[in-house]
Amino acid sequence: MNKFISVVVPMFNEQDNISEFYKRITKVMSALPYDYELIFVDDGSRDRTALLLNELVQKDPRVQAYLFSRNFGHQLALTCGLDNATGDAVITMDGDLQHPPEMLPQILRLWEDGNEIVQTIRKATEDASFFKNITSTTYYKMINTVSTVHITPGGSDFRLMDKNAVKAFRLYRERARFVRGMINNLGFKTTTVEFVAPPRFAGKSKYNFRKMLHFALDGITAFSNVPLRWAFYAGIFFGFGSIFLLGHVIYVKYVVQDTIPGWTTLAASVLFLGGIQLVGIGIVGEYVGRVFEEVKQRPLYIVSEHLVKK
Ligand code: UDP
Ligand code: MG
Repeated sequence: MNKFISVVVPMFNEQDNISEFYKRITKVMSALPYDYELIFVDDGSRDRTALLLNELVQKDPRVQAYLFSRNFGHQLALTCGLDNATGDAVITMDGDLQHPPEMLPQILRLWEDGNEIVQTIRKATEDASFFKNITSTTYYKMINTVSTVHITPGGSDFRLMDKNAVKAFRLYRERARFVRGMINNLGFKTTTVEFVAPPRFAGKSKYNFRKMLHFALDGITAFSNVPLRWAFYAGIFFGFGSIFLLGHVIYVKYVVQDTIPGWTTLAASVLFLGGIQLVGIGIVGEYVGRVFEEVKQRPLYIVSEHLVKK
């Protein structure tokens, strides 16, 4: 009997990519000695994505789709796919063809060689803006300085996981999800493959600046308490600083017996301290907010419909 492979694909407003994606993935997979299922997760699309997915489901029994009740985000769409995949190995990839289906034979070979996680590393994106490149490089530098797990720069959510790794992943039920970091946290025998991401086949990137910032913050706060410590050290530093300053003021007043000119310096330092305090409170707030999200124990995502061939 052939081994069974699951391919998980999150789709958010990807109506113009679906048929091309399906064509290319089917061409690649049907040439390989595996049985497979294609699991699409429609992340609350507002275009014709769900409709087109249903057409595929009715046409090809290997295809199924989970429809979310609203947009929950890429990371939760991936989670839903991983929760429901039944394969001996599960491959996650984007539906916009930035993760070339033609790489699957190579990835599956590495799995057959005994690797339990095959992680792809994006060397470059052909059409990525200067801004996206800069923010992404800086971000990975930053996260690796503060974080307790190493996150490979250019790591993408294009990867293969053996069913053992998938089983372990399902035990992680945290809400603030940064799948890349969680996968590194799992362990397992891992290897990497590099690739150059082509431009999107159609449509625009769904990550706007706000989504990218949230994603970045999740990545840092989910794996590190270092930012909290920074706020603490800054507090200590300025606390001692102000004691010295006070000493100086008393000295000038009673020893040198001169009134202190230059209240502007004072005002400036008060403002500066106030700023530092607000930053500290902001950082604590980030973590408290996350704790609040976790204790509510809400479902990670809501599936409104599961499409399978009738
Ligand atoms: N995606 C999703 N939910 C979202 C945003 C994106 O399921 O809220 C999907 C999207 O359809 C695509 C993948 O996640 O298949 C990657 O998104 P995108 O291509 O916009 O990200 P980028 O490649 O620009 O980082
Ligand atoms: Mg993309």
